[in-house]
Amino acid sequence: MGKALIIGCGGVAGVAIHKCCQNSEAFEEILIASRTKSKCDKLKEELEGKTKTIIHTAQVDADNVDELVTLINGFKPDVVLNLALPYQDLTIMDACLATKTNYVDTANYEPLDTAKFEYKWQWEYRERFEEAGITALLGSGFDPGVTGVFSAYALKHEFDEINYIDILDCNGGDHGYPFATNFNPEINIREVSANGSYWENGQWVETKPMEIKREYDFEGVGKKDMYLLHHEELESLGINIPGIKRIRFFMTFGQSYITHLKCLENVGMTSIEPIEFEGKQIVPLQFLKAVLPDPASLGPRTVGKTNIGCIFQGKKDGKDKTYYLYNICDHQECYKEVGSQAISYTTGVPAMIGAMLIMDKTWNKPGVFNIEEFDPDPFMEALNKWGLPWQEDFNPTLVD
Ligand code: NDP
Repeated sequence: MGKALIIGCGGVAGVAIHKCCQNSEAFEEILIASRTKSKCDKLKEELEGKTKTIIHTAQVDADNVDELVTLINGFKPDVVLNLALPYQDLTIMDACLATKTNYVDTANYEPLDTAKFEYKWQWEYRERFEEAGITALLGSGFDPGVTGVFSAYALKHEFDEINYIDILDCNGGDHGYPFATNFNPEINIREVSANGSYWENGQWVETKPMEIKREYDFEGVGKKDMYLLHHEELESLGINIPGIKRIRFFMTFGQSYITHLKCLENVGMTSIEPIEFEGKQIVPLQFLKAVLPDPASLGPRTVGKTNIGCIFQGKKDGKDKTYYLYNICDHQECYKEVGSQAISYTTGVPAMIGAMLIMDKTWNKPGVFNIEEFDPDPFMEALNKWGLPWQEDFNPTLVD
C-alpha cells in the first residue's frame, strides 16, 4: 500500500500506469509528472472511474533537480519510478537523495552528447544511497530487467554455476510501416548503430555494428535473423553472476529495418553532432525522431508476437545443463488490454512490479542495485500474475 511518483508519460509509462491502476491495492495513489502535462491529464481521464487508484498529474522538467525536489516534497511518494529518458537518470537520483526517496528506472544513464551508456555514473551513487537509507533499483524493464531476474532465478533454482548466457530479444511484430522504431527512436537508433560487444572471460570483445548475425527459430514467431548488440545488462550480469565465462545479447531485425537504417546512417541522419540549419542548431537524430511515427501510435497497427528470454549453460550436480527461460507476448493482446504494443508492455509491466516490490519493502536494502542482486522469486511470481507469464525449456537449441 503506497504512493508512487511516475516521471514521464510516453509509451512505457502509459503501460506502467495502466498496470499500477489495475494493482490499486499496492498503488493507492500515483502522481504522473512529465514534460507535457496534457499527456498525463489525458491518461488520467482515461483511467479515472475504472480504478481505485487516486491519480494526480503535474508538469515537471526532470532535468531540473530543484523542480523535482519540490514535486517530491509536495507529494511524498514511497517510490519514484523514472520512465522519462536515460538522460534524466542522474537528476532524478539527485532529487531522490535530497528527499530520501526510493528510486526505480528501466534504462541506465546516457549523457546526451555521447552515445555511450554505462552503469558507472549510477553506481557512483551507491554509498550516498546507502547512507541515506534508500534503495535505487536499476533496470526494471524487460531487457534490462526481466533478463536479470531470469538470470538470478536460474542461478538460484537450476544451476550450481552458470557459464554462458545468451539473451535473445525477438520482436516478430509487424506495424506495416517500412521504417519505425518500437520505442523512443532516438534511444533505439543510438543503441543499434553503436558498435556491438559481448563479455568474455572478464573482458569486452568489441564488434562492428551488426557484424555478428545468427538465425534462430523462436517459439510463437518462427525463424528470424538476429544481430549481436551491446546491451546494458551485460555489464552488471558479468559482475553479478559468479562463474560466468561469456554473455551475449542478440536482437532480431527485419531486412527493411536494416536497409533503412543503413541509408539513414549513410546520409548522416542518425548523427548526434549538432548541425547548423536555417540559422539554428539542430541534431539530425532528434530531427529524424520528429518525422518518424510516434512509437505510442504503433499499438493499433502492430500484429504478431515478441519472444524474449535467456539461454543458460552451466553445471548442476557436476553435470552440464542447458536451460531457456522466456516470455511470449502478443502485440494485439497488449493493445486490447492497455492500448499499447508489446514492446512498451514488456517494459511497463516489470517497471510496475519493480516499483511495487520496492514500495512494499519485499525488496528492502539501502544502496544502488541491479535487479539480479535481489531475490528473484517474488518478481517471477508477479510476472505470471501481471501479464508476462514465463516458459521454460530444458533442451533448447543453442546459438553457436
Ligand atoms: P518515450 O519517448 O515514449 O517517453 C519518454 C517520456 O519522458 C515522454 O513522456 C517525455 O515527455 C518524457 N520526458 C522526456 N524528457 C523529459 C524531461 N526532461 N522532463 C520530464 N519528462 C521528460 O519513451 P519510452 O516510453 O519508449 O521509454 C521510456 C524509457 O524506457 C526510456 O528510458 C527507455 O530507454 C526505456 N526502455 C527500457 C526498456 C527495457 O526493456 N529496459 C525497453 C524500452 C524502453 P514528452 O511527452 O514531452 O516528450
